[in-house]
Amino acid sequence: MTEKVDHYPMWKNLGLDLEKHDQLLAILPDIYKKIYIETQKNRPDMSFWDFVVGDIHGIRIKELKEAKEKGQKILGTFCLYVPDELIFAVNAISVGLCGGTNFSNYAAEGIVPPNLCPLIKSALGFALGNICPYFNSLNLLVGETTCDGKKKAWEVMEKYFPCELYVVEIPQCKDRPQAREHWIAELKALVKKLENLTSNKLTFENLKAAMEKIENKRNQIRRVYQARKADPPPISGKDALLVSQVAFYDDPDREIQMVGKLADELEKRIRDGVGVVKKSTKRILISGTPMAIPNWKLHQIIETSGAIVVCEETCTGTRYFDAKLEITGKTLEGLIGNLAERYLNINCACFTPNEARTEDIKRLVKEYKADGVVLYSLSFCQPYIIESIAIEKKLKEIGIPTISIETDYSSEDEGQLKTRIEAFLEMIKK
Ligand code: SF4
Ligand code: SF4
Repeated sequence: MTEKVDHYPMWKNLGLDLEKHDQLLAILPDIYKKIYIETQKNRPDMSFWDFVVGDIHGIRIKELKEAKEKGQKILGTFCLYVPDELIFAVNAISVGLCGGTNFSNYAAEGIVPPNLCPLIKSALGFALGNICPYFNSLNLLVGETTCDGKKKAWEVMEKYFPCELYVVEIPQCKDRPQAREHWIAELKALVKKLENLTSNKLTFENLKAAMEKIENKRNQIRRVYQARKADPPPISGKDALLVSQVAFYDDPDREIQMVGKLADELEKRIRDGVGVVKKSTKRILISGTPMAIPNWKLHQIIETSGAIVVCEETCTGTRYFDAKLEITGKTLEGLIGNLAERYLNINCACFTPNEARTEDIKRLVKEYKADGVVLYSLSFCQPYIIESIAIEKKLKEIGIPTISIETDYSSEDEGQLKTRIEAFLEMIKK
């Protein structure tokens, strides 16, 4: 990914609103420079990710276009619960879509209420405003029934966004035996949809190969997270978050290679005693809603207040890779069963009950030797906001310093958040 080309003809062909798109792309370099370049020292080699952000709508979009010309289908997903393995197995490409900026909100105004989760509003704005070439490259949008906001967002998408939509129905009480049966039936229905779309059959061989590839990608991210357990950590929380964010939409083979190379370097740094902060710097675990590019706000505040983020219990963190996938079994049915099991082990606040998430946080605090937990919820995200009250209480009862933060994508509350985070860190130090 090194060539420099004029992408305007491609963006025009995709039907983008070029004026708005220019405005969007003009904002990102300054934010990135301020957060990633000017305030960080002694980074590992992050040149690949620096390039990817600088070229965010360039070469990857060109790759998708070329893949489409060769007959491959491009699918957009919004949640970890839509298994990449099934999509890649039938030779389609999955792109994790999200929205991490309020820039696009104008396009969703009057269509959705203002008091909606910023992530959903942002994603809808990207789609409806024709300012994201990932949306405009799709053959199929795959939604899912997780939170209420998303369920309604699919209806808006279907009405206003000219791309076919398919919604996977996720069981809500996932601990029940019938939930597993229902989930397997839903995965099989998705397979049918994918087979029709791509004219490729799902087989034992292609599913096993895709499972191995995606699990290998997750293994490389696991290695990066494993390295963050060191004191001092060899990588900042901001950089680790970026690695995870990019993994959602980049080519899995390239991710295996690049994240693997980064993990090699981090492991060497640990052997050499090299870190991005001083030993014994206060270590923070963030837990809550996912953070889509360019939502780096909370990490930036914590890491410019004298602490370091060592782990994220989020879908752009451990929920992405923690649940292990068994690739054993001699039949296609067996592999689909393993896949179903793996995904049911992800503990999202959309499920009820969801006690296992609290246990995950407690375990991660120990594993990453975190000094404190920041429970992070995007505004109007009811599942995570509601869970944060009980989780904060439980963590405090066992002596884990915890603070709950509710925020959106604006910069208006940054000063106030910084004051709260600094006071929290002071309290931890005492
Ligand atoms: S938080 Fe829940 S709904 Fe959102 S991406 Fe993660 S699993 Fe899906
Ligand atoms: S952050 Fe919360 S409200 Fe927003 S999409 Fe995720 S679960 Fe739904």
